[in-house]
This record gives sequence, structure tokens and C-alpha cells, in this order.
Amino acid sequence: MTDHDSAPDELASLVAQVRACRVCADSLPLGPRPVLHVSPTARLLIASQAPGTRVHETGISFNDASGDRLRGWLGMDRETFYDSRRIAILPMGLCYPGRLPRGGDRPPRPECAPLWRARLLAGMPDIALTLLVGSYAQAAVLGPGRVEDRVRNFRDFLPRYFPLPHPSWRTGAWERRNPWFAAEVLPALRAAIAPIMAPPRADPVRTPPPPA
Ligand code: SF4
Repeated sequence: MTDHDSAPDELASLVAQVRACRVCADSLPLGPRPVLHVSPTARLLIASQAPGTRVHETGISFNDASGDRLRGWLGMDRETFYDSRRIAILPMGLCYPGRLPRGGDRPPRPECAPLWRARLLAGMPDIALTLLVGSYAQAAVLGPGRVEDRVRNFRDFLPRYFPLPHPSWRTGAWERRNPWFAAEVLPALRAAIAPIMAPPRADPVRTPPPPA
């Protein structure tokens, strides 16, 4: 058995550990429920923020209006979006972090990414492009900086990363004020994704033995 052969089992074992995690349980108003979609064959990684309440309830990332907006940007249907053989979705904080007193969700729990992220990424060696969705994912990978500046200058981060705004309801108004996003960024986003979204490899074809 090669290292690559053992990768699916190692990742599955790691995901089981993640699902049992209670490290910051006392700080989570709805309790731990890590939401992630990973596979050792994934080619595209969506690095996001943290689950909202609907994602917490359903256990499915971006299963809300933000997800509808993001799928619209990607030009992608739900079936493709949730094909974890090709697309991994890994938030910076894996559990719903609660609400801020003045509205909006709290930031991802700071304990989470240092504990799990690098190990999960190590189990997905075929990732070719990472979408950095929102300020937390961008800060973790690219350091300090403004989301809008990075989105405008997305070409600086290709071919490895593609920075995007968080697709929350507020982003609708932002999009209307910034038509360059739809005119320049979204076509480039779809073009960057297309070559790495080829159908997953079929199981190896077994050739019948020659007649005796
Ligand atoms: S947010 Fe992360 S560190 Fe905290 S309980 Fe959930 S999985 Fe564990």
C-alpha cells in the first residue's frame, strides 16, 4: 500500500475526530456541530467563514441565501457544488459561533483553524485552486488587507488563490455599487474554475484476461 492509498482512510479518521470535537463547546450557543465537506480527490477548495444558523441546523455548508449567491457567482448548480469528490468546503471555524450583540454572526472561533485546518488540508493533496471567501479566510492565508482591494486585484493571487467577498445579503448592494465585479471578476472566476472541474476519475477499467 502506498501513502496515497491510505489517504482516504486517514482523512476519514480525521473527520471523525473533528466531528467529535468539543474544544470550544462552552462558547458555542448552539453547541458543537462542525460542518465541512472534504475528500482526498477534491480539486477546488472553498475556504469560507463559519456556519450560520441554517447551515448549523442542516449540516450543509452554504445551504442558505449566501450559498445561492455564491453558486450564482460560480455559475454552478447545487449538484455540482456539493460534489465533494471535486469541491471541498472548509470554513475557518467549523461550528456556528453565535451572534454579535449588535447583529451579525460572531467571527469564527479562534481555536478552530489552528487545531484542524492544516491537517485537513494535508489530506487533500489535489487542491488546485482555493477560493478565499471573505475577510477571515483571506487574512488567514494572505495576511492583513482589504477584501475589496484583493477582489479588484484577484489576478495577483492566481493561479493558487481567488479572493472573493463574503456572499451575504449585504453584498447585493455592494455588487450594485461595484459593477466591475460582475463585468470582470465573475467571468475570470468561472474561467479559472472550468479547467479544474473536469468530471471525477472513473474507477480503473479492468481489462478481462486474454483467452487461454
Ligand atoms: S469550532 Fe472547531 S474547535 Fe470549536 S468545537 Fe467546533 S470543531 Fe471544535
